[in-house]
Amino acid sequence: MSLAPEAQEAALAALRALAARGDDAPRTLLLAGPDGVGRRAVARWYAALRGCRANLDDPCGRCDACRAMQPDLDGHVASPDYREVGPATTTRDGKPTRRPLLRIDQLVPRERSDVDDPLGPWLARPPAFRHRVGVIVRAETLTEEAANAFLTVLETPPRHATVLLVAPGPDALLPTVASRCAVVRLVPAEAPPAVRERLAPHPSLRLGRPAAWRAALADLEASDAKRAAVADFVAALGGDLAKAFAAADALAERWTAGDDEVPGLLREAWRAAGPAAYVRGDAATAALEEAWGAYAHRDLALRDWVLRLRTTPRP
Ligand SMILES: [Zn+2]
Repeated sequence: MSLAPEAQEAALAALRALAARGDDAPRTLLLAGPDGVGRRAVARWYAALRGCRANLDDPCGRCDACRAMQPDLDGHVASPDYREVGPATTTRDGKPTRRPLLRIDQLVPRERSDVDDPLGPWLARPPAFRHRVGVIVRAETLTEEAANAFLTVLETPPRHATVLLVAPGPDALLPTVASRCAVVRLVPAEAPPAVRERLAPHPSLRLGRPAAWRAALADLEASDAKRAAVADFVAALGGDLAKAFAAADALAERWTAGDDEVPGLLREAWRAAGPAAYVRGDAATAALEEAWGAYAHRDLALRDWVLRLRTTPRP
């Protein structure tokens, strides 16, 4: 599995050149660029590159340090040498805040705090593999108090560590913070041809943000999967009852509350079988939606629906 971010070759080349300087590489970096352009993916790639035992132009993806950098299904990276800190949604007293800010106690130890291992002391400890990387996400939300308390770390992080700040640009940062960063810029990205072909003319292509393409591709894939589940269900409906129930279960898994795509596709299928079939198919489906809306037993309602549809002419 590749750790390489999409379409940010210029930024990766700049970071490769820095990493090649080893201990002389600047240890406080700003990854500058608009939201969604892939700054965090680039931060993770750089962390993997610095930790990798293979010393190649890209993280090898196979050594223990690289494997620790692979995100889990929730997108969380569990490497002991990698840490992301973002604006807190509560105050130090634990009260919710309307404007999330990076708090001082997320960076340096403070009394009366629920943060048990702030970024500063974490960076100071020796790495488990080769290099520690602490990422400050949305660094533009650093409070002045927090920035001042962290300035000595930003000035000279430990030799085994890099602080990566993620923000729109140096102008978005406090001047005292910006002046301590080497800047690596990420530009809006060009979609690869395969993505372009699959999505065109989707508006996300014009945004230059891999995150937007990925969301659009995921939507498209979910939509294709729903289409396939509806087709499988309609095909299975008239045959063996157990198989019809199984196909209904598979369909129900893709039929989330409030989704009108699956019922829409079903109604299209019955419309194709003629007006009488459409009326009965539509009524059965409406009854199912109503039962689910009324929190009736989901599986029983589904089975009842299947039995009603089996006696309906099919497409
Ligand atoms: Zn590696």
